[in-house]
Amino acid sequence: MNIHEYQGKEILKQYGVAVPEGRVAFTVDEAVEAAGELGLPVVVKAQIHAGGRGKAGGVKVARSIDEVRKYASELLGKVLVTHQTGPEGKEVKRLLIERGCDIKKEYYVGVVVDRSSGRVVMMASEEGGTEIEEVAARSPEKIFKEVIDPAVGLLPFQARRLAFNINIPNELVGKAVQFMTGLYNAFVDKDCSIAEINPLVVTGDGDILALDAKLNFDANALYRHPEIVALRDFDEEDEKEIQASKFDLSYIALDGNIGCMVNGAGLAMATMDIIKYYGGEPANFLDVGGGASKEKVTEAFKIILSDPKVKGIFVNIFGGIMRCDVIAEGIIAAVRELGLDRPLVVRLEGTNVELGKKLLAESGLNITPADSMADGAKKIVELVK
Ligand code: ADP
Ligand code: MG
Repeated sequence: MNIHEYQGKEILKQYGVAVPEGRVAFTVDEAVEAAGELGLPVVVKAQIHAGGRGKAGGVKVARSIDEVRKYASELLGKVLVTHQTGPEGKEVKRLLIERGCDIKKEYYVGVVVDRSSGRVVMMASEEGGTEIEEVAARSPEKIFKEVIDPAVGLLPFQARRLAFNINIPNELVGKAVQFMTGLYNAFVDKDCSIAEINPLVVTGDGDILALDAKLNFDANALYRHPEIVALRDFDEEDEKEIQASKFDLSYIALDGNIGCMVNGAGLAMATMDIIKYYGGEPANFLDVGGGASKEKVTEAFKIILSDPKVKGIFVNIFGGIMRCDVIAEGIIAAVRELGLDRPLVVRLEGTNVELGKKLLAESGLNITPADSMADGAKKIVELVK
């Protein structure tokens, strides 16, 4: 799960990570009021769940209240297209009004879960402000890493070594260590999957501040963080994914045109693979789960049908705990409600398979049955062509 920059900064502050003073604003008047409280100059920053805002015109320095008013009214309601939003962009509905900083130099610090070491890793670079992927491609020697032992956490010497490696001025190393320690503690405490500060800056006054903050959270740990769940911004999420989460369905929207309804995460992954193998592109990952009810299956099918990108649907069910007749009933109920204007290939196997097939056959729906997974994948790829 993703949150906004201003929310991330609030969390970081609680862990002793220094951030510029700022206020969230939903309207132009609120932006003006915030600037009055903070004092000029301020930076008016579009809050969307995507980076690259600076280059796209989503971060503006305002030196007068008139400028605050101007930038706030330009940005609110604007669809901002950055290299991370995709071509459709994201509408700006909130602003962060933040005290403008006298930047001496920009750095990068990020915390991630590193799969190869199986540990949390803190990365830092002197090349702040630019994307870390770019630095990694152009000058990988400028990225320094510390692998963190979970038993002891980030040790002071590791933070100092990072600070020295990225050439933080000597007199500020203490502050940098405090910053990195706070960032690491926030990451662990809040079950983050990413905590990225780009840029971290050294200011003219000798402060070390997080000017940007990107925090992502492990969705599987959200049950123990109601305070994080409360920060969820539904405007930033895919409508279909929101609907799916209401019914406890594991659904992820993708770019292809073949809608998939599968039970079991492993089979769902394998189904996407086999669709690609036969030259198709899946429109989603969907695991309806082991013991899904008819209602859940109906909702799942409705979500797939609601996607205009979907040109055909492949239902691939192995009925272990799941009964094939329940799946069939769910499909029939959804289609009764919404109609079926696209090809549908169904492969059923397992518990009550005969009854499931019978229900589908007698429903009068235009369904293409498949004998195996490969057969079903081939058929649906053919049909959407
Ligand atoms: P993004 O990563 O989406 O482009 P950032 O928050 O990193 O957005 O802002 C882009 C750039 O804007 C920063 O690299 C920094 O140079 C400048 N900036 C952001 N916030 C401030 C601030 N409070 N004071 C001065 N400059 C800022
Ligand atoms: Mg940034």
